[in-house]
Amino acid sequence: MNSGDKCSLEQAYRQGMEKLKNAGVPEAELDAWYLLEYVTGIGRASYYADPDLKMPAEQKTKYDKCIEVRSRRVPLQHITGEQEFMGLSFHVNEDVLIPRQDTEILVETALELLDREKDVFQRERGTIRLLDLCTGSGCILLSVLHYAKCRMEGTGSDLSTRALTVAEGNAQRLGIAAEFIESDLFNDISGRFSMILSNPPYIRSSEIAGLQDEVRLYDPIEALDGRADGLYFYRRIIAESPAYLEDGGYLLFEIGHDQAADVTEMLRRQGFDEIRVKKDLAGLDRVVYGRYIK
Ligand code: GLN
Repeated sequence: MNSGDKCSLEQAYRQGMEKLKNAGVPEAELDAWYLLEYVTGIGRASYYADPDLKMPAEQKTKYDKCIEVRSRRVPLQHITGEQEFMGLSFHVNEDVLIPRQDTEILVETALELLDREKDVFQRERGTIRLLDLCTGSGCILLSVLHYAKCRMEGTGSDLSTRALTVAEGNAQRLGIAAEFIESDLFNDISGRFSMILSNPPYIRSSEIAGLQDEVRLYDPIEALDGRADGLYFYRRIIAESPAYLEDGGYLLFEIGHDQAADVTEMLRRQGFDEIRVKKDLAGLDRVVYGRYIK
């Protein structure tokens, strides 16, 4: 192609896809497509109506840049700056774990329990208080607050100031009222809650090196590393939670696929009742919860 010639959408897309494939990017076709859509704002229907449409030079330059960055295995979501979760759009960057689809099971479980118990919670305490430990982007807390059919006060906490900046931005962007506190788990939290949720870091330290590059290099390590046996945060949260749960309150976790037995046992020993495990869409154990009855 002469340097004066403009590149068509289809040519750009094919080049982008090839580069991503050569770089070993999983789902190269899809990512090349998403980036094309991101840069041009053109959807599938318009693309197929006229794939020969010429791309303005500055768009082509931007697209090439995005492809180059993605070929270094920078996650797509860090390039576009967003990830959809529970049908809501969350801003993300390298300071927070990118919301995973699997985590929607945790949110759905929380919503089911709230729907079932909201009248009791409200009658007994007036206000339903919700706490999300290790909130990261805020995706769990903010989705529960957005979809719950009852009025609640929501608090999100994280050890990372930078993560909290992202979470606060997401609350604003979605127009959801929530409080964010910088705290190492419960250290700076006060009062009692009807429900405590957490998707803490749960990968065994020795398994981090084997994760895909997008996760290993670009998700914050503090959001992944659950120490030697992966259970460090569950152990601490379960031990300390009775002082922060109302009578009859729930503690809900996302877990790794092989952690249900250990986390269930920890909850049982701490005196939790009604312990349940829920699976994700792949049929893997994904959520464990229990109820604290004094
Ligand atoms: N599920 C995440 C992953 O696949 C890990 C999230 C976590 O440690 N809480 O990497």
